[in-house]
Amino acid sequence: MLQPTATPGFTSRSACPVCAGTDTHRIYTARYDEDPVRALVQSNFGRQGVIDWSLLAGVPFEVDKCATCDLLFQVQTPNDAMLEVIYTQMISPGFLDEYERGLLTLDEFHRIAGEFTVLFERIGKHPADITMLDFGVGQGRWARVARGMGATVYVTEIGDDKKQLARTLGLEVIEDEDVDRMTFDLVHTEQVLEHLVHPGRDFARLARAVAAGGLFKAAIPYRGKLEQLLKSKGLPTEAMFASGGAKAIPGEVEAFASIQPLEHLNAFSEKTIDWLAAHNGLRKVSEVRRRSISVQTGDAQGLVRGAKKVGIELVKAAMKPKIGYHVLERA
Ligand SMILES: [Zn+2]
Repeated sequence: MLQPTATPGFTSRSACPVCAGTDTHRIYTARYDEDPVRALVQSNFGRQGVIDWSLLAGVPFEVDKCATCDLLFQVQTPNDAMLEVIYTQMISPGFLDEYERGLLTLDEFHRIAGEFTVLFERIGKHPADITMLDFGVGQGRWARVARGMGATVYVTEIGDDKKQLARTLGLEVIEDEDVDRMTFDLVHTEQVLEHLVHPGRDFARLARAVAAGGLFKAAIPYRGKLEQLLKSKGLPTEAMFASGGAKAIPGEVEAFASIQPLEHLNAFSEKTIDWLAAHNGLRKVSEVRRRSISVQTGDAQGLVRGAKKVGIELVKAAMKPKIGYHVLERA
């Protein structure tokens, strides 16, 4: 693993970090130490951890668009030492533990298991014969379910605490460079690609690791009309969780969250994912988060609730919902 450099700071990405193209132009310019970016960072991290403003003094916040692959990306990216600050101080482990625990619900378990059922059926192997890579496992919300269903789940993560947790969940912890020597039936990325400093390089590494007939799941924030919103309104001053409710304009909140300062460094459009698939030997098989449904059979109410869930999922499948969800397949 890379050792953090001594001083937290930023480096600039001059070329497109997905396609390496240089046909880019600036669509937004601001500064970390002035509103709206300052207020947005305060809104987002103020309740999650501690912000050291001296690290952000004088740092520009700029967003470029690539004409070749359509990516929108933050030009300034945190170096390793700054990433360490962001993911251990600005987002405190205690906050993360509690947040993740709140998501380990029965409903969430069924949703995740239902999605893996669909993906595993497409792979077409006995679950115990399926190998999966969960790249950036986090607290293991997804990986623990796949493991429980029988798959062998390899995981990568930064930080010893998360690695230790993964081991207690029966997951196979590997180092980032091990990915380059292995193949998997399912390469799973859930809200990870938007965080990467080198998304094009790492996407290619992950695509290479998909076995023949295997799948690459890329779930990312939905970008929507982010480009128009940045040009017309600029960044908002409140983070996604802080706004919402009646104030939220449908679609707008999610779009802004796709370029969250310090965290979501890359905002992919469908065109960007198509470019990545085409250049890495993959083809798109789904843009809908399909899942099988569990139904409680104990009483009539359970059956009615189950029928409602089925209806909702059928509508979603028919409408192609506006989410950043892509299942790619290696022929
Ligand atoms: Zn590009």
